[in-house]
Amino acid sequence: HMPTAELQALDAAHHMHPFTTNNELAEKGARVITRAKGVTLTDSEGNDILDAMAGLWCVNLGYGRPELAEAAMRQMQELPYYNTFFMTTHVPAIALSAKLAELAPGNLNHTFFAGSGSEANDTNIRMVRTYWAELGKPEKKVIIARHNGYHGSSVGSASLGGMKPMHAQGGLPIPDMHHIGQPYWYGEGGDKSPEEFGLERAQELEAAINELGEDRVAAFIAEPIQGAGGVIIPPSTYWPEIQRICEKYEILLIADEVICGFGRTGNWFGSQTFGIRPDIMTIAKGLSSGYAPIGGSIVSDEVAKVMDACEFVHGYTYSGHPVACAVALENLRILEEEKIVEKAGAETAPYLKEKWQGLADHPLVGEAVIEGLMGSIALTPDKASRAAFAADAGTAGYVVREACFANSLVMRHTGDRMVISPPLVITKSEVDTLVERAWRALDFAHKKLSDDGLMKAA
Ligand code: PMP
Repeated sequence: HMPTAELQALDAAHHMHPFTTNNELAEKGARVITRAKGVTLTDSEGNDILDAMAGLWCVNLGYGRPELAEAAMRQMQELPYYNTFFMTTHVPAIALSAKLAELAPGNLNHTFFAGSGSEANDTNIRMVRTYWAELGKPEKKVIIARHNGYHGSSVGSASLGGMKPMHAQGGLPIPDMHHIGQPYWYGEGGDKSPEEFGLERAQELEAAINELGEDRVAAFIAEPIQGAGGVIIPPSTYWPEIQRICEKYEILLIADEVICGFGRTGNWFGSQTFGIRPDIMTIAKGLSSGYAPIGGSIVSDEVAKVMDACEFVHGYTYSGHPVACAVALENLRILEEEKIVEKAGAETAPYLKEKWQGLADHPLVGEAVIEGLMGSIALTPDKASRAAFAADAGTAGYVVREACFANSLVMRHTGDRMVISPPLVITKSEVDTLVERAWRALDFAHKKLSDDGLMKAA
């Protein structure tokens, strides 16, 4: 390939990136990733980097499995594309929907395919409203979601999300969306115990239903653990109370498993980790380990019964794309046969947890939490008070992220929380490397923030 500097110049000139400014790209140059194997990325300069983010929470299986490339090639030769509209279907979509029915908990036995998590959540918005309309309740269309949740970037899914900058740009949310508080004890719990606070935040759902009117609320959507919002692990009291409220008021419960699904939290689905019984699950990312773009909504027998009887005027050209389905099936076959989810949950997760929690001893770290292979740390200028920084949120997080990069480690920041979600195949010695590099990056960032006078509480 071309020299890195030329690639970076072309990139900044012509390639509009999500979630960054091209001016910054022009100034600093993006890191060009050229290859990857296992948990290790290689950039255009030949540097190896430990990917503690599994790409973008996707690559649960790890990079470079030839079987997935072979599955894609076989399918491309046999039938590269056909649709699943009207009265046609094909083998990969049939096989994948049957496999998902087997893997998904409870009576979640029916999948509507999409090309991504955003598309799947757009499907969910229309599906829950259609479901209630079919049952003679067309006024039930409000969807309750949470502040700081993330459900995608399309107009519908970004309206479900509650990350402020997304709503500020482009005039979101669309009507009939309502947001309640997040169960973020460390940042918002004050003097309450995590259990008290978890319960209180769950009860905001009941208050919202009462305020909006039971007959207007269609569904509640949430991630079992908020991912993009900073890996916010809810207190133990949260999900049982949410479940109780949804059942009491007959509100459909949508678990957005785009990040939590396919082994991330130590079980096949985050819903299993937290005892959630959703009516609909959103899936994407780990479904194909990112090797092909695919998402979907897995719905319960009850929801499917109503939807089966109506024409759902909704579908994407790539709903159930045969190549993506073939790749997803191969990914699931390997995850199952090599017991990757079980091993990650039983062996890697406890090891990583012990090491990760050690980071809480660092002077820049307020808490270090983890569930399965999904963890985060809160950066703080003052450990004792859990204080936020006086500087703009994200200033410290950015410094740590860059320091990680300089230490050959990809970690992401959300505001001033650092998050990880390494591929499930990460070994114990790679876990050691991850935590060593994180510690070194924190040391460097701590010094820089101190030198720059930024270790000040808000
Ligand atoms: N839901 C959740 C929980 C996500 O984390 C994401 C992506 N980060 C999405 C939905 C959207 O998925 P996609 O980017 O594939 O559209």
